[in-house]
Amino acid sequence: MICPVCEDKVQTLHDLGVHFGNMSIRGDANHTSWIYAELGGKYIDYSDLEEAFDMVFSPQVSLAKWARLAFIRKFYTDPHPFIQAMQKPSIPVLLGYVIEHRFFLRNWIRTLSSVIHSTTSEEVFNYEIENVATEYIGFNGRPSHLDLLIRMGEALGMTRKRIMEYTPLPETSKAIEVWYSISSHYSWVDTMGAMHVLELVADRTLVDDGAKMHYFDPGILNSSEYPQEVRDFLMEGYKADVDHAGKALKIVESETMDDLTTRSIMIRSMDAFYLYLNARLRRSRMLEAAWGE
Ligand SMILES: [Zn+2]
Repeated sequence: MICPVCEDKVQTLHDLGVHFGNMSIRGDANHTSWIYAELGGKYIDYSDLEEAFDMVFSPQVSLAKWARLAFIRKFYTDPHPFIQAMQKPSIPVLLGYVIEHRFFLRNWIRTLSSVIHSTTSEEVFNYEIENVATEYIGFNGRPSHLDLLIRMGEALGMTRKRIMEYTPLPETSKAIEVWYSISSHYSWVDTMGAMHVLELVADRTLVDDGAKMHYFDPGILNSSEYPQEVRDFLMEGYKADVDHAGKALKIVESETMDDLTTRSIMIRSMDAFYLYLNARLRRSRMLEAAWGE
């Protein structure tokens, strides 16, 4: 397996504990702060690290189920501030979403293309081709998610030209580097796990496993407070991702050759996503400041 922070190779969860201990002795803050955050801010003694990793990786739980629980722990136990903002999103919050998400979607296509390039499975090939078409080109007569995203931005008063002129915030670029690096260095199975675990964000059945809220307040979908284009965009994810992430994670679970490495890579991807969600919110605050609100 690999370390979820620096990708160093280790053999077991015990060795991972030793690795974290060594990094701490060397004064490395990344590992120490990571495990601290992972355990919800609880102090951890060196001798308890192995037990802590057993909790983080839960090797006794199936990969697909673990992914759901790990995602909930990271994003929904103490809900990410962007998710909290999406319970009643302001125009700047939605525009922050539009501006940063364009770069996410572009990267989504690049990384999933590496799955298409490398997979030996006909099922996965077809699954990802459809995914790419749905996100970026349009599928079965429906506009692409990218187009629905930009239409949402236009309905909120920003021109398509203006949306396209933005460059990504550093947090978005950093997250994209992580995903691109995963797709360059790891197998198609690991890349698939890294990307599709992120679709859990909009999986409304997460509440059955302990999520405190949904990605956004579903009441928005029937509310005249928001333009139709906002509801159209949110509805796509609301309808699609339950089945979508679940199916991909089942494939990853059955195809992985190194379960703990796959889990480490999924954790890296979720950490990058956390950072990227921060960027959406920071962009919205920049827009608010620019408007003097
Ligand atoms: Zn490490």
